[in-house]
Amino acid sequence: LERTFSILKPDATRRNLTGAVNAVIEAAGLRIVGQRRIRMTREQAETFYAVHKERPFFGELVEFMTSGPVVVQVLEGENAVAKYREVMGATNPAQAAEGTIRKQFAESVGENTVHGSDSADNAKIEIAQFFTDADIA
Ligand code: ATP
Ligand code: MG
Repeated sequence: LERTFSILKPDATRRNLTGAVNAVIEAAGLRIVGQRRIRMTREQAETFYAVHKERPFFGELVEFMTSGPVVVQVLEGENAVAKYREVMGATNPAQAAEGTIRKQFAESVGENTVHGSDSADNAKIEIAQFFTDADIA
């Protein structure tokens, strides 16, 4: 089984959608094996999204990710990385497929409800940024 890293972003917690999003995750056959609600620090958000630091939306992205609580998660399942990307839908909710989390819940390309790792290697790096082995079961 593979693991991926997920974040329920501040627009999700603000609208009390943690359970609704988790229901879609679990219905897709992904198991939530680690989960914690945190307030991300600016430093954590900047480190997490360092790959985007030259993009015009970087400042806005860091502001948003630190604007309210997030739920960080470790998801486990067959092909968890690709499966979760599929369940999330396109980055821009206007282009997301029917039934996906972003199609159902996301408000804009910036406030798009969820993050999911884009590769197994990045999943390992991202999980290690927020979880120790003892937090996952
Ligand atoms: P994530 O990395 O959050 O899972 P993603 O892989 O679908 O999403 P990326 O291209 O990695 O998308 O962008 C990271 C995040 O940056 C997006 O989820 C979104 O919140 C924000 N973002 C991306 N493009 C834009 C944009 N044009 N304007 C504002 N925010 C954006
Ligand atoms: Mg990404």
